[in-house]
Formats: sequence, C-alpha cells, structure tokens
Amino acid sequence: MARVHGLHHITGIAGPASENHRFYTDTLGMRMVKRSVNQDDPKTYHLFYADANGSPGTDLTFFPWAEMAPARSGHGVTSETLLAVPTGSLGFWADRLAAHGVVPDPIETRFGEQVLPFADPHGLRLALAETSDPRNGVPWDGSPVPAEHQILGLHGARFPVARRGPTDAFLTGVFQLTDFGEENGWRRYGLPREGGLDGAASGTWVDVAERPDLPRGAWGTGTIHHIAWRVDDEAEERDTREAVEQVGLRPTPVIDRFWFRSVYFKEPGGVLFELATDGPGFGVDEAMETLGEALVLPPWLEPYRDEIEAGLPTLGG
Ligand code: ZN
Repeated sequence: MARVHGLHHITGIAGPASENHRFYTDTLGMRMVKRSVNQDDPKTYHLFYADANGSPGTDLTFFPWAEMAPARSGHGVTSETLLAVPTGSLGFWADRLAAHGVVPDPIETRFGEQVLPFADPHGLRLALAETSDPRNGVPWDGSPVPAEHQILGLHGARFPVARRGPTDAFLTGVFQLTDFGEENGWRRYGLPREGGLDGAASGTWVDVAERPDLPRGAWGTGTIHHIAWRVDDEAEERDTREAVEQVGLRPTPVIDRFWFRSVYFKEPGGVLFELATDGPGFGVDEAMETLGEALVLPPWLEPYRDEIEAGLPTLGG
C-alpha cells in the first residue's frame, strides 16, 4: 500500500478572478465549493472548484493574482493538469470547448487513454482524460454540463525535471508509487493497481520527463503552484512527513487549513508538493447546499471582513 492515496487537490495561479470563475464553473461545469482568501495575502481570493460535495481528489483551486507576470515553463514547475471524464465523452467536450471559444489540441492516446489537451483563459495547460476507473466524485445538479459528461475529478499531473533519478527515488521510495513505464519521454507513476485501487478512488498519475535542456521554471499566472496528495488523517500525515524528512527534504510543520491539514515540501526535482488530510472537508464551516456562495474567512480575518470584501474583485455571473 502506498503512503499517499491519490491526488487531493491541485492549486494554480490565475489571472483575473472573474474570468477564472466563469471558465471553471461555466465552461467546465465544476461547482465552486469554497470562496475564501489566500491566508497569507487576504486581498487575493482563494477559489475552489470541485464535484458536488468537494470530495478529496476532485478539487482544483486558484489564487487569482492578476498582477503577476506569466509563468515561465521549465523544470520544477507542473506543465499540465489532467482531469478525468467518463469514457466516451471527449467528443462532447471537444464541441463544448469550441462553443466556448477554446480551441483544443487534437485528441491523443497516452498510456492507452484518450486525452484532449487545451489551455484555460490564462494559459494554464489542462487535459481531459477518459477513464473507466471508479471515482468518488459526485455529479452536481447545478452544473451546465450533463451529469454523464461531468468532470469526475483530478486524473494526474505532468512535470519536467532536470534529472529524473532523485524524483523517481522519492516517488517510488517514500510515496511507494509504482513505476508504470515510459512513453514519448514521460515516465508514469501511480498507485499500485493489483487487487484494485488503493484508497477511495482518486486520480493518481504523475508523469515525469527528464529535461536537462529546459531552464528552471518559474511560477506566474497560468501555472500550477502545488500538487496535494491524500493522506487519511493527521496520524498518517505525521508519519509520511517523517518519511519525507528522513530522506533529507524539508517539510513544513502540520498547518491547519480548516478544511484539511497540510504539510508542504519540494520534491527533489523542485515541484512543490503538499500532503492534505481527507477531512474534515468543505462542509465544516458552511451548509453543503450553499457551498461557495458566501465568502469564508479564517477567524483571525473575520474582524476585517468589510474591508476584505470591499477590496476583492466581483466574480460576476
Ligand atoms: Zn494546497
């Protein structure tokens, strides 16, 4: 059994908040399950898009930092995020994206899966991947996308590194992921699949390319900030944190993010990883029926609510 149980959430940096909100809720039909602020920079939103329930493994989150420079692609920075869709739905999605002004790349076959790559309005590279794997995502009634085509959750992520060896050793050694072989320069890792998928059915793929020719990448709008991995609870998180520290990496202490507990560290190739607990979840401070409708602030920012709300951009419809 691996030390992590699939992807928990992936967080990116976006341009203007209203464009980000429109694309993920309208074009992609995800539910905004939490409207909060960056806890270190409360004049910036932190927006969370997921399935109906905000299930772990379905969640893409963004800091809309419109004033930030665009990202520089290169090693140590995630180059693509894959979202799972039901088998047979890529035709629907190619048409839907085109109708919303997004020109996707041609459908590709990768590791036996049909994949539709495209970019979001701020240049973030995404791909929809058809899968028949069991998923914990729950369709959302309020989505403009019919339930049978809705995004099922995260599927995977790809990133280049200068040298693959140390990242390989980390993923297979500390995380205990399985090496699924190489295709077109990408090496694929994921949860072991013998005897069924471990954990509660989230996406697990991470594809790594060795690209010493690339410069070191830099964060900016249209890039991924970090990749979070599922751990069951805080006891397992502390255990895994210790294993990360033992191989010479530098994990943060456990940080309380209210909806989950987090530990951050850079894997050996420079990509920021997070460990995040499955609970308590997005229902801890809001009713499930109205998730994401009101601005949620951590207690220490509550006294400044009026000022914070006045400084945030409108999300629009
Ligand atoms: Zn995170």
